[in-house]
Amino acid sequence: MAVNVVESKEWYLAGYAADGVPTTDHLTLRSVPLSLSLDSIPDAHVAVQLLFISVDPYLRTRMSGQEDGLYFPQFSLNQVITAFGVGRVMRSKDEKYSEGDIVLNAFFPVAEYCVVPSSVLIRKIDPEAGIPLPEYLSCLGVPGFAAWVGIEVLGEAKPGSNAFISAAAGGVGMVAGQLAKLKGCRVIGSTGSDAKVRLIKEEFGYDDAFNYNKEVDFDATLSKYFPNGIDIYLENVGSKMLEAVLNHVNPHARIPVCGMISQYNQIWTEREGVRNLLNIVGKEVRMEGFLVGSYLDRFADFTVEMEGYLKQGKISSKIKIYEGIQSFAESLGSLFSSSNFGKVVIEVNKPR
Ligand code: NAP
Repeated sequence: MAVNVVESKEWYLAGYAADGVPTTDHLTLRSVPLSLSLDSIPDAHVAVQLLFISVDPYLRTRMSGQEDGLYFPQFSLNQVITAFGVGRVMRSKDEKYSEGDIVLNAFFPVAEYCVVPSSVLIRKIDPEAGIPLPEYLSCLGVPGFAAWVGIEVLGEAKPGSNAFISAAAGGVGMVAGQLAKLKGCRVIGSTGSDAKVRLIKEEFGYDDAFNYNKEVDFDATLSKYFPNGIDIYLENVGSKMLEAVLNHVNPHARIPVCGMISQYNQIWTEREGVRNLLNIVGKEVRMEGFLVGSYLDRFADFTVEMEGYLKQGKISSKIKIYEGIQSFAESLGSLFSSSNFGKVVIEVNKPR
C-alpha cells in the first residue's frame, strides 16, 4: 500500500555564524511529518524523495547574517537550507512528471523528502544514460559548469597557455585542470596536502602541482612553476595566493574569479586585502568575477561537451560521498579543511 505520510528530517538555520565554520550551534536537524497523499499536494507540485545533495562552499556565505555581496541572499532564521540536488518523484500533480522520474533542482530543501512546485525543477535525468547520478552534481553540475565557464569562456584557454588553478583538487578545480589540459594548456595546481598533489597529477593529468601548506613564499613558488609567467589563473581561494599570482601574470592574462574560499569564514572587515592590484593595470589583466547562474544560456552547450568527455573517458572525477542527511553540518565544515578529495555530495536516500 502506498505510504501517505513520511517523517522527513530537514536542516534549518537556527543562528547565523558571522565568522568561523558553521556547526550544529547554527544548523539544526529536525524531523517533520510530510503528507504525500495526492489530496494534500497542490496542483503543479511534485513530492520528491531526495537522493543526492550537493555540498558547496557558497552555502556557507548564506549563513553569515550579513549581505556582503557574495552569491545569494542570506537564509532566514528557521528557514530550511536549500541546495542543488537530485531526487526521485514520488507523487506528481503535473502531467509533465511521473512517479519514478529522476529530477534536478538547484534549490531542493536539505531534507529527506519534500513537496515543491514543478516549475523549480531544472530537468529530468535519464538514469539509463550510463552516468552515475552524483556526477550530475559534480562534473555535470555547478562545479563542472563553473570550471567550464572559467576555463573555456572567460579564461579563453588555448594551446600553449600557462594555466594556474587553486583549490585544484576540489569540485571545480579537478574539472578545470582537465579542461585546460584538453585545450592544450600547461597546467599547474595548488592544493592542501601531498596526497592531493599526487592525485591531481596522477588522476587529473596536471603537469605539476604543489602543496600550499608547505610553501612559505608563494612568490618564489610561482617563479619556480611559472618561469614564463601565468596566462590564466582560475581564482578559487583569494588572499595571499591572488597577491602572489598578480606578481607573475603575463600581459593580457585572464583571471576568472570563481570564488575566494579562504575568506568565507571571516567578516569582511577581517578579510585579507591584496596589495598589488595595480599590476592588473600595467599588465592589462582581465580579472572578472562570475556566477554560473548568469551563463545558463550556455548550459546546454556545456552539457553536451561534458557528457561527451565523460563518456569518452577524457574527464574523470572523484566524489566524496557522505551517508545520510544527518551528515550535512559535518560535510559543510569539511569544505574548509583539506580533508576531502574532489566533489562533496550527501547520499540522502539510496537510489533504487
Ligand atoms: P570544494 O570542492 O568544496 O573544495 C573546497 C576546497 O577548497 C577544499 O577541499 C580545500 O582544498 C580548499 N580550501 C578550503 N579552505 C581553504 C583555504 N583557507 N585556503 C585555500 N584553500 C582552501 O569547492 P568547489 O566547489 O571546488 O569550489 C571552489 C571555489 O569555487 C569556491 O571558492 C567556491 O565558492 C567557488 N564556486 C563558484 C561558483 C560560481 O558560480 N562563481 C560555482 C561553484 C564554486 P585544499 O586541500 O586544496 O585546501
